[in-house]
Amino acid sequence: PKAETNGSVTHRADDDKAADEDKEDVAVQSLLNKLIRSSLVNTTNQVEVLQRDPSSPLYSVKSFEQLRLKPQLLQGVYAMGFNRPSRIQENALPMMLAEPPQNLIAQSQSGTGKTAAFVLAMLSHVDPAQTWTQCLCVSPTYELALQTGKVIEQMGQFYPEVKLSYAIRGNKVERGQKIQEHIVIGTPGTVLDWCHKLKFIDPKKIKVFVLDEADVMIATQGHQDQSIRIQRLLPRDCQMLLFSATFEDSVWRFAERIVPDPNIIKLKREEETLDNIKQYYVLCNSKEEKFAALCNIYGAITIAQAMIFCHTRKTAGWLAGELSREGHQVALLSGEMVVEQRAAVIERFREGKEKVLVTTNVCARGIDVEQVSVVINFDLPVDKDGNPNNETYLHRIGRTGRFGKRGLAINMIDSKHSMNILNKIQEHFNKKIEKLNTDDLDEIE
Ligand code: ADP
Repeated sequence: PKAETNGSVTHRADDDKAADEDKEDVAVQSLLNKLIRSSLVNTTNQVEVLQRDPSSPLYSVKSFEQLRLKPQLLQGVYAMGFNRPSRIQENALPMMLAEPPQNLIAQSQSGTGKTAAFVLAMLSHVDPAQTWTQCLCVSPTYELALQTGKVIEQMGQFYPEVKLSYAIRGNKVERGQKIQEHIVIGTPGTVLDWCHKLKFIDPKKIKVFVLDEADVMIATQGHQDQSIRIQRLLPRDCQMLLFSATFEDSVWRFAERIVPDPNIIKLKREEETLDNIKQYYVLCNSKEEKFAALCNIYGAITIAQAMIFCHTRKTAGWLAGELSREGHQVALLSGEMVVEQRAAVIERFREGKEKVLVTTNVCARGIDVEQVSVVINFDLPVDKDGNPNNETYLHRIGRTGRFGKRGLAINMIDSKHSMNILNKIQEHFNKKIEKLNTDDLDEIE
C-alpha cells in the first residue's frame, strides 16, 4: 500500500448509525425475490417426505398430466411455460390434490415452486358453480398477497369462471353482503375481520386454507395470533396448507398450531461453499486508499461483473459516485429505495446493463449472485457488535458448489481491527485468504 494517506481516519460512528437504519425487513426481501425471480431455483438436493400415514403409498408425479387436472388448468400451467413439476411439486401436488384432502406443511427456499403448487391446488378445489368463498389464502403483506393473486390470475387464465377477491385494507365491501368470489387472498387482520367481525365470508364453507410465508408471517407481532384465530373458525375437514422458506423452531411451533395431522415436505437448501473461490485481501489505510486499490484491480484484470459490499449506505453512495467518475457503469442498491426501484436495479444488473453493483449488505441479502465472478468486500461483514459475520461472508462470496462455478473474492482491509476480523473469518472457514499486492497483480489472473 502507498504511504501518503497514512494517518487518515474513517469516521466509524456516523457509519454505524447509518447501518442501524438499514433494518432488515423480511417481507421486503421476500417480495424483492419474487419480483426478480423469473425461473425455478436449481437444486440437486432430494426432498424429504414425512407422511402422516406412513403405510399409504407415496405418490410422486413426473408430469402434470399424471395429476388429472381440469383441462383449463393444465392449459394454464403450460401457458406459464411449465413443462414438468418442480422437485417439491412432484410430491406436494399429489398430496394436495388427493381425495380426501390432505394437510401439508412444506418448507423449501424461495423460488422452488411452492406458490405455483398451492395456487394449482386452490384452483383445482374450487367449484365455480357455488357462489361463495371456498379457498382462503393469507399472506404477510399486501404486496405479497398481490403477487400471489397474479399467479392465480395467470394460472387460471383459461378458467375465467373462478373469481378472486383481495382481503386487504382499503378494499371496501358493502356491509351485510357475502363475498361471492371463490378465492380470497389477503393479510391476516383483514381476512379475520371478513370472516369474523364483518361476516363477508362464511368460514364454515372454506375447503382450502393456505398460509403462505409462515416465517415472514411470524416476524410480525399479531399476525401469528390472527392466523390462529382464522384457523379456529374453519371446519375440521378443511384442507390446511402451510408454506415457509425456512424452518426455525419458532416457525415449526407455529406450523403445528395451524396444520393438524400434517404431511411434511422439506427440501434442503443447496449448501454454499468457498471451495472454488480464490480469496484475497488487500491492505490499505483509508477508504480513499481502498478505492485506489480497487481502481488498480480494475485496471489489471478483466472483470465481467462485480458486486461490491459496503457497510453503510453512506460509504456505498460515496463509492458508487467515485466509481462512476472513473467511468464505470455502476448500479447502486440502497436502503432508501422502494422495493420496485431495488428490483429494477437488480434486474438491470442481471441483464448485464451495469457491470458493477455497489450495495450494503442488507439490500443484497437473498439475492442470487451466481453470475457474478468477482465479489469485493469493501468493508468486511460484521454483526451489530462488530464481530465477524461468517454467515454473511459465506453468503456473499460462496457458491453452491455442485454447479462448480469459480469465483474471486477480494477483501479490503483498512485497520488492525479489520485485519483481526479477517483472521477470524479465515480461521472459521479454515481456508487461506492470500495477501494481494495491488501494485503487482499478475498473480490473480
Ligand atoms: P416459491 O413460491 O417457492 O418461491 P414459485 O412458485 O414462485 O416459488 O416459483 C418460482 C419461479 O419458478 C416462478 O417464476 C414460477 O413461475 C416458476 N415455476 C414454478 N413452478 C414451475 C415449474 N414446474 N416449471 C417451471 N417453472 C416453474
